[in-house]
Amino acid sequence: MPFSLFSAPEREASHFLGFAGNTIDRQSEKRSDDSALLALAEPSARLLIVMQGRLLLDFANGSADPYFALATARALGIETGQAILLGRADDKPILAVAATSDVESLPANLKALDFRSIHMQGLIDSAGLGALAQGAALLGWHASHGFCGRCGVATVMRAGGYKRVCTSCGAEHFPRTDPVAIMLTVSGEKCLLGRGRHFAPGMYSALAGFIEPGETIEAAVRRETLEEAGIRLGRVVYHSSQPWPFPYSLMIGCFGEALNEDISPDTAELEDCRWFSRSEVRQMIEGTHPLELKVPPRYAIAHHLIRAWAESD
Ligand SMILES: [Zn+2]
Repeated sequence: MPFSLFSAPEREASHFLGFAGNTIDRQSEKRSDDSALLALAEPSARLLIVMQGRLLLDFANGSADPYFALATARALGIETGQAILLGRADDKPILAVAATSDVESLPANLKALDFRSIHMQGLIDSAGLGALAQGAALLGWHASHGFCGRCGVATVMRAGGYKRVCTSCGAEHFPRTDPVAIMLTVSGEKCLLGRGRHFAPGMYSALAGFIEPGETIEAAVRRETLEEAGIRLGRVVYHSSQPWPFPYSLMIGCFGEALNEDISPDTAELEDCRWFSRSEVRQMIEGTHPLELKVPPRYAIAHHLIRAWAESD
């Protein structure tokens, strides 16, 4: 079989993941310091409004609309001076703003829902979920970077929200994306799944951990699997990646090939960790497992890693 370097973009595994469908033209080379204010002045501008980890949705027309006109946002008492510019979609500027309003005091047609519920219930389309991931990650970064990491003085937003600058020492600070390795370890017809102490009843998932400074993706996959399960890995391959706005991670999904099968779980992290046969995993995906064991929901990259292995030859 000839070696194939590329697959078609619509066949990339990342294409099918939640929060991965962003279609915004970011125009990153055109970000001026006043770009967010200029965008807000355009009548077609639309705002995503994030309040306390929830996205505001308008149900006035039956379906959920996450995009608000500037006048509507202001009528709700939302301060738009710190709005960030995500880019343009359908030639409209798309912005995101954090609101501090009391979620309980919204008009009847508006609801603020957490990001996972929005995905689970299929309330907005893939492009909307992608815009949400971009906006929520940036707003999360701004919320925790109000002061200079070098000198401690207040910073101000610049470049439409893609930079903060210190008002004293002039240091520039850029938005973070924190890489997390998530890996499905396989050995023949079995895969390795673990149960964290905070998981929903019956749920098992792929192991995961933050990639550390100075580490390759593959090295992080091998280290985390050894630390959490005592399993050494041989070959590691990349599968897909997923923006994960909790608060600003990038999940990097891989498969790892186990070199040993004797599990030595990290009991501080995991309540249980064991091998599952392919047929058992298929039952978990289909919701037919006799003990009601299950895998994470479709919005999670772990679901897709596990499904890709379960359905592979
Ligand atoms: Zn400073």
